[in-house]
Amino acid sequence: MSDLTRLSAAALAEALTSGEVSSVEATQAHLDRIAAVDGPVHAFLHVSSDEALATARGVDEARAKGESLHPLAGVPIAVKDVVVTRGLPTTAGSRILEGWIPPYDATLVTKIKAARLPILGKTNMDEFAMGSSTEHSGYGNTHNPWDLDRIPGGSGGGSAAAVAAYEAPLAIGTDTGGSIRQPAAVTGTVGVKPTYGSVSRYGLIALASSLDQAGPVTRTVLDAALLHELIAGHDPHDSTSLTDPVGDYVAQARRGLAGDVAGMRVGVVKELSGEGYQPGVLARFEESLELLRQAGAEIVEVSCPHFEYALAAYYLILPAEASSNLAKFDGMRYGLRVEPTEGPVTAERVMAATRGQGFGDEVKRRIILGTYALSAGYYDAYYGSAQKVRTLIQRDFAAAFEEADVLVSPTAPTTAFKLGEKLDDPLAMYLNDVATIPANLAGVPGMSVPSGLCEDGLPAGFQVIAPARQDARLYRVGAAVEALLEARWGGPILTKAPELEASK
Ligand code: GLN
Repeated sequence: MSDLTRLSAAALAEALTSGEVSSVEATQAHLDRIAAVDGPVHAFLHVSSDEALATARGVDEARAKGESLHPLAGVPIAVKDVVVTRGLPTTAGSRILEGWIPPYDATLVTKIKAARLPILGKTNMDEFAMGSSTEHSGYGNTHNPWDLDRIPGGSGGGSAAAVAAYEAPLAIGTDTGGSIRQPAAVTGTVGVKPTYGSVSRYGLIALASSLDQAGPVTRTVLDAALLHELIAGHDPHDSTSLTDPVGDYVAQARRGLAGDVAGMRVGVVKELSGEGYQPGVLARFEESLELLRQAGAEIVEVSCPHFEYALAAYYLILPAEASSNLAKFDGMRYGLRVEPTEGPVTAERVMAATRGQGFGDEVKRRIILGTYALSAGYYDAYYGSAQKVRTLIQRDFAAAFEEADVLVSPTAPTTAFKLGEKLDDPLAMYLNDVATIPANLAGVPGMSVPSGLCEDGLPAGFQVIAPARQDARLYRVGAAVEALLEARWGGPILTKAPELEASK
C-alpha cells in the first residue's frame, strides 16, 4: 500500500482488519512522518514511539490469533497534552508542570488504551488551554502546515496541525471556548466539541470546569464519529458526566455522506456572520449553505440577540473558574518548585517564586482577572452578571432550536493569521472565538467541518451547532457538507494538502 499516512482512520482501520497492512507498519509510517516534518511544524511535545509500537505489536498479535478487536484497534492517535496519561509526560503546555509524569490515565485515555489505539505522543497547546494560536505554549510555537509562518489556531494547535500534516489520522482536543473547532477551521481539519458531559472530564487538567469538553480532531467527519463513539459515555469519576447512551454518530455520518439532509431545518445565526468576518470565509460559508439548500435542507434565519455579550461573559466566567482551578499549582505537589534566592524559605514565598517563574503572561493575566472578578464586593457585579448573561444565551439557543434543527455559522472570523500578529493584543486574540464560545456557555455540541480554501489559499471552517444531547445531528449535517463540497469540486476539497519539506 502507498503512503499509509494519507489514509483516513476509517480506511486505515479497514486495511488493518483485512490484514492488508499491520498496525506496526501503520504506526511506524506515522512515526516516520513525525520524524520527517515535526521539526518545522512542532505539533508534538513528546513522541512516545516505544509505547506506540508496543501497542501496535500487541494488536497485530491479537489479530493473528483471531481475537475480536475494536474497529479502530491499531489506528494511531495523538493526544493533547492537557490530557493526563500514565507514564507519559503531561504539561498542559506549561513550564510549571515540566517533568511531571502522571500516575493515572484520564478516562478517555483508558478507553483509547482498552480499544488498543497506539498513542503517538502528546501535542502542543497554549498554556493551560488559554489562547487561540498556540503561541502561549511554554514550549514554543506550533506552525500551521498550510503556511509555516501562520498560527495553527489554539489552544489545540498541536492536535490540529498533527492531523493536517498527516502525522496522525486521529487526535484528541479539548474545547472550553473553541479550542477544538477554531484550530480545525484554520488547518482544514474536522473538530467536534461534544455536548457538555458527553465525554468524561476525569483526567483533563481543568481550565474552566463548567465549559471544558474533550473531543475528536480528524480529517473526515466519519473519522470524528468513530472516535466520538469510542471516547463518549458515562463515567462515575465525573459528576457532570451524562448517563445517556452513546449516540449513533457513525450511522448519522453515513446518512449525511449519502446527502440525506432533506427536510432538515438549518438555522443561520444572524449575529455570527457579516461585520468582522473575512470576505473569503463568508463566501465559503454561503457556498456550503447553498449546497445544503440544493440537497433539500430548509435554510432559515434565526436571531440570537444575546450572543453579542457572549465573549464578555466568557472572559469573566473562564478566568474566575481558572483562577480557582490553577490554585493547586503551588510548587508543593506537581512539577516545578522554585525557592526564593534570598530570604526565608516559607511556603508562601516558594509558592510565589514557583508561580512567578512557572506561569506565562496569559495565565497570570487570567488568574488576576478571575481573582478580581470573584473578590468580595465585585462578585455580583462581574461574576454574577456574567452568569445571568449565560442564562440569556441559553434561552437564545432554546428559542433558535424551536425554529431550526441545527444552527450554522463560519467557525472563525478569519483564516490563519501570521505568527506574532495578535500576540500583544489580548482582545484581538479573544475575538477569534466569537462564533464558538456561545456553544460552550450553553453546553451544546458544535462541529467545524472544512468549507474549502479562501481568497488567500487558506482553509476555513463551517460550524454546525446542535441542541444538547443531539450530537448525532452534527454528524449528519457535517458529513453532508463534506460530501456535497467534494461532489461540487470533483474530489477532496483540500487537494492542496500541505506538502512539507522533509527536515533532518
Ligand atoms: N481561545 C479561548 C480561550 O483562550 C478558548 C480556549 C479553549 O477552548 N481551551 O479561552
